[in-house]
Amino acid sequence: MSTYSDDTKTEIIHTRSMKNLVVFTVLFLATACATSPGGRKQLLLMPKGQMDSMGQQSFAQMKSQQRTIRSGPVFNWVTCTTNEILRAIGENPSRWEVQLFADDSPNAFALPGNKMGVHTGNTRLAGSTAELAAVIGHEIAHVKAEHGNERVSQNLLAQGGLVLANIAFGQSEQTDQLIMAGLGVGVLMPFSRAHEKEADLLGLDYLVRAG
Ligand SMILES: [Zn+2]
Repeated sequence: MSTYSDDTKTEIIHTRSMKNLVVFTVLFLATACATSPGGRKQLLLMPKGQMDSMGQQSFAQMKSQQRTIRSGPVFNWVTCTTNEILRAIGENPSRWEVQLFADDSPNAFALPGNKMGVHTGNTRLAGSTAELAAVIGHEIAHVKAEHGNERVSQNLLAQGGLVLANIAFGQSEQTDQLIMAGLGVGVLMPFSRAHEKEADLLGLDYLVRAG
């Protein structure tokens, strides 16, 4: 003979799994706190491997949508400058990828998974190798300091309430969509002021080390 009716039993199991989820989330958040190379406390919720593969996917998509320049003096300039900075900070250049995008806007960007893009608009604006190096050092710093992961984690936290509600109501498909939206937007969103400042300071340190 059963002590509980089926409904009560379901409710108890449901409450217990919700409690487990909350405990798990709190533990997860507690262990996900890291310190950035610039000495800031950061929240990193995503496994590094997953961030890297998301960055690699986004980068592959960009390369398929926009022309890249893979030879010539400007390409060599960007590649040599990048490699010199990487070697100076103990990174193996073969584990990084920098691409020169045929784009007139004066931009550069970095993605998790050691991916960087420099626009031709940026190389035209840079008057010297030191100026180009300042931009590239800044982008390397975004990757090294895991700013992408931090951005995605903040997005996930902001959506946390919605995600938890969906989990509670068993709408796993919607939850997956929400998480994926948060991740995708997070990878490609501009960085915050704090991230920009930290990337500037770290980037300067890299330049000093590279001489
Ligand atoms: Zn930046």
